Amino acid sequence: MLGVDDHLGEQLRQQERKAWGATRISIMRRGDGTTRGSFLIPDADADTLRAAIEGIIAPRRTAANAQQHGMGAGDWLALPREQKMGHAFTELINHLPTGSLPQAGGLAATVAVTVDIDDLRTGQGTATNSSATDMSAAKAQRLACNAHLVALYLENGTRVIDHGMTRRLYDRHQRLALAVRDKGCVFPSCDRPPAWCEAHHLSFWSESGPTDLNNAALLCHFHHFLIHEGEWVARMGDDGVVEIVPPKRVDPDQRPRRHVRFTQQQPRAA
Ligand SMILES: [Zn+2]
Ligand SMILES: [Zn+2]
Repeated sequence: MLGVDDHLGEQLRQQERKAWGATRISIMRRGDGTTRGSFLIPDADADTLRAAIEGIIAPRRTAANAQQHGMGAGDWLALPREQKMGHAFTELINHLPTGSLPQAGGLAATVAVTVDIDDLRTGQGTATNSSATDMSAAKAQRLACNAHLVALYLENGTRVIDHGMTRRLYDRHQRLALAVRDKGCVFPSCDRPPAWCEAHHLSFWSESGPTDLNNAALLCHFHHFLIHEGEWVARMGDDGVVEIVPPKRVDPDQRPRRHVRFTQQQPRAA
């Protein structure tokens, strides 16, 4: 005779077996620069995904912060929850542990982008990744700050003159040093920890910005995007603290702002 628990257990086991068999994902390119995906996965795995996404969009960026930064309609806070979750999902994708994924030491998730070096410099023009997906040079610039990308630079659209694997990406040791120095995203009021940040080149390397710590800053996915949009500027202060310069529409004087974790360490002016 089976007890209630046994029945339930057996039911669950059957359900899980079904879920296993039904598990699917489909990823469809729509031809307009977006891809639509849908999946059917077991509840427990979906819970893990949901928890990760909700962790990313946790409402720590308050409305006051939004006003303070003058981000307006495009601001993270103004986005509908669904859209925030979508962005959080892309953030998650961009932080997959590619180094520990199967296949060729993580190369499977490496994106090789070919781009004309002049396009990359100006942020104009387009780039193409190894799946033949076109993207703006601005997006390629942003991707190029991350370890997921190998940029192949073309001259006159054809000849590969260099590749960006070695000297242009911050290595593990530099990233560790950055984690200690910046302690997270350097954008004022942002609380993303180092593990969720991307190492941004303050002066873009195609403009001869070196890959050293003085030219680096940790930025979260969202703020990294914002900085590469070009309106807000991240730069190194004279005293070695990264600061953010707001656009004129936010502050006509464009006074640089610092994250509170840096200003708290400063002695108060008398
Ligand atoms: Zn960057
Ligand atoms: Zn941030």
